Amino acid sequence: MSTPTRSSNRPVRGQGQWALGYREPLNPNERMKKDSDGLDVRQRILDIYAHTGFDGIDPGDLRGRMRWMGLYTQRAQGIPGGKTAVLEAEELEDSYFMMRARIDGGQLTSEALRVLGGISTEFGRDVADVTDRQNVQYHWIRIEDVPEIWRRLESVGLSTMEACGDVPRVMLGCPLAGILEDEVLDASDVLAQTVAKYLGDPQFSNLPRKWKTSMSGCVDHCTEPEIDDVSFVGVVNAEGEAGYDLWVGGGLSTNPMFAKRIGVFVRPDQVSDVWAGCTAIFRDYGYRRSRNHARIKFLMADWGPEKFRQVLQDEYLHAALPDGPAPAPAQHDQRDHVGVSKQKDGNNALGFALRTGRISGSLLTRIADLAEEYGTQGGRIRTTTQQKLVILDVPDARVEDLVDALAEHDLLVRPSAFRRGTMACTGLEFCKLAIVETKQHAQELYAELERRLPDFDEPIGINVNGCPNSCARFQTADIGFKGMIVRNAEGESVEGFQVHLGGHLGVDASFGRKFRGHKITKDETADYCERVLRGYLDRREPGERFAA
Ligand code: SF4
Repeated sequence: MSTPTRSSNRPVRGQGQWALGYREPLNPNERMKKDSDGLDVRQRILDIYAHTGFDGIDPGDLRGRMRWMGLYTQRAQGIPGGKTAVLEAEELEDSYFMMRARIDGGQLTSEALRVLGGISTEFGRDVADVTDRQNVQYHWIRIEDVPEIWRRLESVGLSTMEACGDVPRVMLGCPLAGILEDEVLDASDVLAQTVAKYLGDPQFSNLPRKWKTSMSGCVDHCTEPEIDDVSFVGVVNAEGEAGYDLWVGGGLSTNPMFAKRIGVFVRPDQVSDVWAGCTAIFRDYGYRRSRNHARIKFLMADWGPEKFRQVLQDEYLHAALPDGPAPAPAQHDQRDHVGVSKQKDGNNALGFALRTGRISGSLLTRIADLAEEYGTQGGRIRTTTQQKLVILDVPDARVEDLVDALAEHDLLVRPSAFRRGTMACTGLEFCKLAIVETKQHAQELYAELERRLPDFDEPIGINVNGCPNSCARFQTADIGFKGMIVRNAEGESVEGFQVHLGGHLGVDASFGRKFRGHKITKDETADYCERVLRGYLDRREPGERFAA
């Protein structure tokens, strides 16, 4: 199949869809993208801004197009969450950037991880976050240092291109793709081919909104295709051929929706073209009038999967795809690949928990050393979609030595259920949209729950978010915290959370329910979790799981 193109004109109607003739920008973001392509900011950073410094950056680039190169302005220190909505953008930000390095499929060599760690240490005050989309995110980045950071990243095959912005973001893959015996198929190649073909492609550099992809044959569906914009999920068809089931239209934030199965079977050699067709549908038919209504989930809600399939086949692929089966349900309760997993070559993969993704550059460098020292293939490391890391290729005889060596740095292969299951977004420390501090609070929360409920050993997801945008997925956690300002017992406005209970993915996936009155202050989160979990322990039936 060739690169898909649109071939029909439909009647004009009003959500700003390009395919319906709306080419004039309908909001400031669309104007910003039309005025200058987001990808063009790269050259201006190299030629101009790295020399003029922060104050010389054009405002349209600063708060808009920089994202196309993985850069966001950072929240100024000391501004409380209650001020987020009332301050002007320039009052909220300092002269530093958050920078996101994309790690497609979460695949790293020890050399690449050493470069990632060194950048944090040298240019980012030795702070880094392993994100829940397999990226590494830096803070405290000066624009003057960006060209050197890019040079180092590119030397190991990494980049920040399209790590943020209205573009195809990092493509998720199973960290153990090609490693485990029981996977449906290894999606590494189709993922790498799609990235190589389309990363930085101007035909997809102006989408209505962010575009999140996953491609995986993991039996545990660890890339969470239920909540990605477009996913290729490993299946075997009736003829015994391995390929992919296509899902489109998942997303959280406000108005969360689960992806819909399109019902087609995609052969591995078709994946790049089908991905491009789906991406082109989003570009051409996606809603551009309101950013709150622009993700493809809204188009899917209006069209449904049958119409999406018909448009994909008729207008973009110019060929029909065969019907295909649904994937088997996830095999395990947890999708994080934490612990010791047997590789098909007889070695072992050791997945371990950080502290809600927060780590130092120095420690990333140390992990690179350990991967080299203990792995048989020169050091292979993977990032997961749960803010964890995995070291591959460890022989049986060295597993426990590496478990101990990691534990010396508080990197736990066998963490408590609470530490394993707790995630936190960036939050008030650095995020301009935040209402509540999250990373530190989540670390204190899991430590407190470990102390109060030392015997609790069931899978439990506790996701702490600093605002409704749900970067740490509060709607799909067993206990999800959405940051907001609440009133304490004295009637004062303080940081707190709306609780969402009982979210989960997989068979019968559902979003957590928001209970009236379950708004708590930050100080009350440990009490709240303990109350909920003790109530469950007291009343549970034999065989019942909390995460069900
Ligand atoms: Fe920032 Fe909100 Fe996302 Fe947290 S959920 S990182 S506070 S935008």
